[in-house]
Amino acid sequence: MTVITQIGGVIYLLSLLISIKRNKKRKFNTLVIFIGLYLLSTFLIVPLMAPKFGREKIKHTDKIKPTNYMTVLLNRNYVRPKLNELLNLTEKELFGTNIKINYLDANFPFINKFPLLPHLSHNDGKKIDLSLIYETKSGTITDKQKSISGYGVFENPKHPEYNQIERCLQRGYFQYDFTKHVTFGTINKELVFSEKGTKRLIKSILKNRNLGKLFIEPHLKNRMNLKNNRIRYHGCSAVRHDDHIHVQLK
Ligand SMILES: [Zn+2]
Repeated sequence: MTVITQIGGVIYLLSLLISIKRNKKRKFNTLVIFIGLYLLSTFLIVPLMAPKFGREKIKHTDKIKPTNYMTVLLNRNYVRPKLNELLNLTEKELFGTNIKINYLDANFPFINKFPLLPHLSHNDGKKIDLSLIYETKSGTITDKQKSISGYGVFENPKHPEYNQIERCLQRGYFQYDFTKHVTFGTINKELVFSEKGTKRLIKSILKNRNLGKLFIEPHLKNRMNLKNNRIRYHGCSAVRHDDHIHVQLK
């Protein structure tokens, strides 16, 4: 539980202690106490403590929302204030479009170097994953997604495009497409990848001076004809990035 939510393990121990003291119908008690304490911590205590570690919750607006609310329930939605600024500025750049910023995993609230699995680097408040943009067959941009978790539905390379995924798998990096196992179900199958929408989102992110790097799979970078030198390749030891965009501060 600590691995998934950071605070879950500690709260579970606390619940166990309280229910042992009260000593009646222990299992049921522990669960009820756990849920109560967990929600209290997640919505009241953790947000008050996180600033001491230089982090805060991602600020939701009309255009900035989690792809899946579990991200918030599991405390995976904490960032440094500068990353909230970056999102805010990106939203302003998107003014007049119907493109929304759907975010995925960011960071836990506490402690640098405490990893947010399965991500290797989301451990310092500077990282966030964002969903790709999709559109209907007739080209209308939507904020709907194709995967319930937000991960694992890939926009594969098309025929003559460079296939980095194949190369990584051939070289033995079997974790490279591991996220196909964590979609938790696929939805909105009629939607297609929006080249224009995703490109506009990335261009808006690139306007930020505090942006360090942005990762997206090479075939999508080429397809969208993006040439900025802050768009980098993440390497075969990460996971494939044609289901989401990774953004990090300097
Ligand atoms: Zn990431």
